Amino acid sequence: MTGYKTHTVAIIGSGPSAWTAAIYAARANLNPVLYEGEAIGTLLPGGQLMMTTDVENFPGFPEPVSGPELVDRMRQQGLRLGVKVISEHIDRVELAMHPFTLYPSYGEPTQALSLIIATGANATWLGLKNEERLALSGGGVSACAVCDAALPAYRNKVLAVVGGGDTAMEEALYTTKYSSETVIIHRRDSFRASKIMADRVLNHDKIRVLWNKVVVDVLGEQEITGIVLEDTVTKEQSTLDVGGMFVAIGHKPNTGFLSGQLELTPHGYLKTRDWRTATSVPGVFAAGDVMDDYFRQAITAAGTGCMAALEAERWLAHQGLGESPVLETAETVKAGE
Ligand code: NAP
Repeated sequence: MTGYKTHTVAIIGSGPSAWTAAIYAARANLNPVLYEGEAIGTLLPGGQLMMTTDVENFPGFPEPVSGPELVDRMRQQGLRLGVKVISEHIDRVELAMHPFTLYPSYGEPTQALSLIIATGANATWLGLKNEERLALSGGGVSACAVCDAALPAYRNKVLAVVGGGDTAMEEALYTTKYSSETVIIHRRDSFRASKIMADRVLNHDKIRVLWNKVVVDVLGEQEITGIVLEDTVTKEQSTLDVGGMFVAIGHKPNTGFLSGQLELTPHGYLKTRDWRTATSVPGVFAAGDVMDDYFRQAITAAGTGCMAALEAERWLAHQGLGESPVLETAETVKAGE
């Protein structure tokens, strides 16, 4: 016995997956504790929605809702239902022994009978000062075309997409629905993307590719007006007028604090059972972008958060640690378990 406080369900994260898991766990009387982290630079509790201006595709909001407001509403809903929130990061966890042990940055370690990891993934940015400023202010710099390109601010404008992988191809193709022209900026003279995706881009009459170019500055006060490019071969600089820039140079799932204790996918995301949130350690569940590098939407993250809470509830009950699980009947019929 460690003497640490033991929670029935601990949730690490603060985006839509974490809050949905917390809301479901609270309504199942599991008294969840949620570690929401703390603000460090551009990393804010709330996850990637904190960098999203208008969310138009989250059902239930006929008018656009800002990303931060959407997260805040989820947070308020969780608080009303009694979720205990701790504004600290979890620096490391020990999953080899049950109950699991969580080590926060400042406070006492705590233990959890079940754990939901919803720490998300962060888009990789170019690291330019004006890029960060305009991304934070909603000034036309984004890391998600599917989330943002349909917004009025991006319509009928020249849009730049930075990157040469499959994500950049997808983002570029998506932006063509709204752009007057899409220009891909890639630092080399060939794409990393799969041939089929690259061919689609290269054959698209609305897409132009600028090879061997890197973005060295982003122009515009309130809204982006252009980008400064540098040729990687000649070092020559040029300016391209754009009305939006989508940075698609990769994502990094937030799994570092796990120190390899859970199985990962080949892309480094938490591996879960098909159509489930159960990870390689029984009692540990994963939800949201930390386990999903395919959909990456607020609504899918919320959906997996719900799944994780229901699975945690069921798992606890099967260990004799909770009441009858809500999924028992459907589960028994489906899987014969
Ligand atoms: P990725 O494959 O790692 O590609 C990242 C791209 O960004 C590369 O072209 C890279 O250039 C460029 N880049 C990286 N850092 C940069 C920087 N600082 N400045 C400028 N350019 C930079 O990442 P991804 O495209 O997000 O894909 C991740 C994984 O998901 C891949 O395995 C991909 O196949 C998969 N995926 C699949 C699909 C699909 O099948 N539909 C869709 C999306 C993603 P270099 O090429 O020069 O390194």
